[in-house]
Amino acid sequence: MSAPLLDVAGLSAAYGRAQVLFGLSLDVRPGEVVALIGRNGAGKTTTLKAIMGLIPASAERLAFKGQSIAGLSTYRIARLGLGYVPEDRRIFTDLTVEENLEVGRQAGQTGRSPWTPERLFRLFPNLAEMRGRRGNQMSGGEQQMLTIARTLMGNPDAILLDEPSEGIAPVIVQTMAEAVLAMKAEGVAVLLSEQNWAFAGAIADRACVIERGEMRFQGSMAEFLGNEALRAETLGV
Ligand code: ATP
Repeated sequence: MSAPLLDVAGLSAAYGRAQVLFGLSLDVRPGEVVALIGRNGAGKTTTLKAIMGLIPASAERLAFKGQSIAGLSTYRIARLGLGYVPEDRRIFTDLTVEENLEVGRQAGQTGRSPWTPERLFRLFPNLAEMRGRRGNQMSGGEQQMLTIARTLMGNPDAILLDEPSEGIAPVIVQTMAEAVLAMKAEGVAVLLSEQNWAFAGAIADRACVIERGEMRFQGSMAEFLGNEALRAETLGV
């Protein structure tokens, strides 16, 4: 097996005196899609923010591409090739789709050919159709897709996606699933957080189930999907 791209062990985090993560461990290997699954408030967003250095956290090991990222600023972590797409959409609403992509352009460190708007339009055909549209004329799901595409313009090796299926129309959920699989096919590893286990089940290779800040289960997606009792207990579904 290849060495992990993202390697997290013993990750803990607190908001003030309230501890919300209790020594989580997980890893993501090159080209893999891993789903962090759990119900509302389980600690998924906090885990992604802690990895990105957006909130203070402690860890036994927090490494990306074999290099420690513990204590690094979010900007430096992103420059190392770890992209982050938060739940709230981060696009410029008065710029067009094409302009938003240009703003995200940043040379990567990988040997792969860099992303361009044209390459991204082949990956996200629905964005190609609205390349001249301003952000404020797009639906929430379309804005979310644009945020992902813009993050790819920074040429990351891996992307953290916070609840990509949350609050978007069902027709776009399918497009979103296709986009994640297309990214994987291009060699970009993905760690996504989800409450929607069916969406996660359709796209992820592995599942990490988080409950009250602790890792309850880690295994293949097939194992997770076959374990109805675990889903009932941890997601109430
Ligand atoms: P969601 O689906 O709501 O995003 P989640 O699994 O991502 O759920 P987190 O947002 O990581 O969960 O929240 C984990 C716990 O931390 C929850 O109990 C939440 O109330 C608490 N929490 C989150 N953000 C803050 C904050 N800024 N200050 C204090 N507590 C917070």
